[in-house]
Amino acid sequence: MNYISTRAAADSSERHSFSDILLGGLAKDGGLYLPDAYPRVSVAELQQWRQLSYADLAFEVLSKFADDIAPDELRGLTRRTYTAEVYCNGRDRSRAGEITPLKVLGIEQGAPLALLELSNGPTLAFKDMAMQLLGNLFESALARKGLTLNILGATSGDTGSAAEYAMRGKTGLRVFMLSPHGKMSAFQAAQMYGLQDPNIFNLAVDGVFDDCQDIVKAVSNDHAFKAQQQIGTVNSINWARVVAQVVYYFKGYFAATPQRTGMGQPPLAIDAALPKVSFAVPSGNFGNVCAGHIARMMGLPIAKLVVATNENDVLDEFFRSGSYRVRKAAETFHTTSPSMDISKASNFERFVFDLLGRDPQRVVQLFRDVEHNGGFDLSRGEDFARVKEFGFVSGRSAHMDRVAAIRDVYQRYGTMIDTHTADGIKVAREYLEPGIPMVVLETAQPVKFGETIREALGREADRPQAFEGIESLPQRFEVLPADVARIKAFIAQHTGL
Ligand SMILES: *Cc1c(COP(=O)(O)O)cnc(C)c1O
Repeated sequence: MNYISTRAAADSSERHSFSDILLGGLAKDGGLYLPDAYPRVSVAELQQWRQLSYADLAFEVLSKFADDIAPDELRGLTRRTYTAEVYCNGRDRSRAGEITPLKVLGIEQGAPLALLELSNGPTLAFKDMAMQLLGNLFESALARKGLTLNILGATSGDTGSAAEYAMRGKTGLRVFMLSPHGKMSAFQAAQMYGLQDPNIFNLAVDGVFDDCQDIVKAVSNDHAFKAQQQIGTVNSINWARVVAQVVYYFKGYFAATPQRTGMGQPPLAIDAALPKVSFAVPSGNFGNVCAGHIARMMGLPIAKLVVATNENDVLDEFFRSGSYRVRKAAETFHTTSPSMDISKASNFERFVFDLLGRDPQRVVQLFRDVEHNGGFDLSRGEDFARVKEFGFVSGRSAHMDRVAAIRDVYQRYGTMIDTHTADGIKVAREYLEPGIPMVVLETAQPVKFGETIREALGREADRPQAFEGIESLPQRFEVLPADVARIKAFIAQHTGL
């Protein structure tokens, strides 16, 4: 499979394999990588895949995109990654082997409403689903090339800890993660700073999250230092992360359409006979729902892809109006679903490329408009009408909607959900269709956002067993000033490069 940039001419002679783009970020021209054509899944394959374990399903999906990795190696990677031991923090521990269990809540307006549990991994957020695989892919690619990689990042919570838990103890890898000193919740701090692995460095910066991010940008812009120190990132535009997320759309689809195995039931033979499923996705950087788009392009029968945003509604505005308007830092709200607090959606360009019929020139033009004018408007062209053909719809949710959804799902179904999943439930309910299962992706566990749970339910959030008392465990972190030179010196000292 060949990967192309969303901004490169289709006849570009440059070829990139999966392994070529694995360790990198943006393409040189500033675009994002995508396969030159989406692999299709046949009805027969869909039937076979239904029976597979999560790890083997991941192998089947990934081998269509990573055809340059030896099959035995890839299967070894997926089997090491997706184990019941790693994904053991779910509601029902007896279902840990399913990796992403489907929890059916009930029937609403004739539609089965269900949660796909994606947050049963080590950091209790869906980012573990892709990041755990990335850790193993990185380790094996680095070993093959005889390289080392020092991952630098900034985090206000979820992404940083998912990266650390994925890279801990890995050969050839170090993580330098900047976080705002004293600004994370006690739970989040305990999760990250509790790691004692010698290849993980938590740098608690005296400042706010934006200071951390500015430092990472400054370090990354020093190309000589970056090369010398072999620095890389694991941000949400990483292609392997997106493609790892494609897997659970298939898993969720199979779980939501259990096969009738009675006598006389003919096997599904033609496309038209395949049942459809809708997915509602709490969204920020458009990574998760982009994976849903790709699953659909591969032939998975998805009815609707429901993009759910919080008060930071850049994406909802686009899907409602055709106008994409990125926000300034000052216009970005701090909400109670903080992992969706984004000012622009970094993976969105991948969908825009497909929406525009894969015309890189127009993508370049539009994202130049984003840079110069803060956005673009497709409302008047033919392109925007095609959004529906891709199954996309959207909605937004605000704090009181989250509180109401958490309370309602708890009272009605006895199930506790987190604030991001609550945004998903709220918007999913606006798009229910009789007979079509609506699967809401559960992106985090409630214990990570305990304050809102207390507000909604007047009680503490459920906490998986392994997380009892983590706040009192020893923590390992380095407090540093918000000073680029000091951070660089720390990195150089610890890489020895
Ligand atoms: C990252 C994150 C999201 C948003 O996912 P995107 O891929 O950025 O759209 C939603 N919920 C939680 C809990 C997250 O950590």
